[in-house]
Amino acid sequence: MNPKKIKWEEIFTGLEIFMKNQAKPSISLIAEINNDPYRVLFSTIISLRTRDEVTITASSRLFEAAPNLESLAKLTEENVAQLIYPAAFYRNKSASILKCAAILQAEYNGKVPGDRELLLKLPGVGRKTANLTLNLGFGVNAICVDTHVHRISNRMGWVTTGAPEATEAALEIILPENYWIPLNEMLVSYGQKICTPLSPRCSICGVTKHCRRIGVERSR
Ligand code: SF4
Repeated sequence: MNPKKIKWEEIFTGLEIFMKNQAKPSISLIAEINNDPYRVLFSTIISLRTRDEVTITASSRLFEAAPNLESLAKLTEENVAQLIYPAAFYRNKSASILKCAAILQAEYNGKVPGDRELLLKLPGVGRKTANLTLNLGFGVNAICVDTHVHRISNRMGWVTTGAPEATEAALEIILPENYWIPLNEMLVSYGQKICTPLSPRCSICGVTKHCRRIGVERSR
């Protein structure tokens, strides 16, 4: 698709209308209460492969017990595992969270760095976590591509890519910067409720006229 023909404003307006009646993704809700990079980073680690409701309750328990890095670094792996249970891979995440906390204390003066390359060096932090932390913790433009953003960007015909990293690179070229931060929140919600993986709900979709439905074989 010729990127110059993509009507971004109309598409985002259509998505916004849908969003008005929907709960936001878990990390957006957590960031709304407190957009402290510490909370955004660790709740995003907890959220990986975990349902939103579990992410919210597990993160709340962790931040109640450890409202800052200093208090987090005093917890044991068992403490953190109990607090974030039943998040997926809670034992691995507990180990990563404490290793991150120790590195941030020792090397970054107890602060989460607002720099993607530095974030990517932390245990358990991939591009998705780094970019979401930049977006919601620091207000820095970055394109956070998870499975929903990757799938919908390809279905709509914006990009033709095989993996989230390639989608991120392709979107960086064609997507106007003012949409970089809203993109994740919009498409995560849309991907959970409307443009679902197996059988998207095209009959009630608000952006149908902008979508090429690439690879959609079955829909509702
Ligand atoms: S038309 Fe269907 S495939 Fe395209 S964005 Fe809407 S729900 Fe997804």
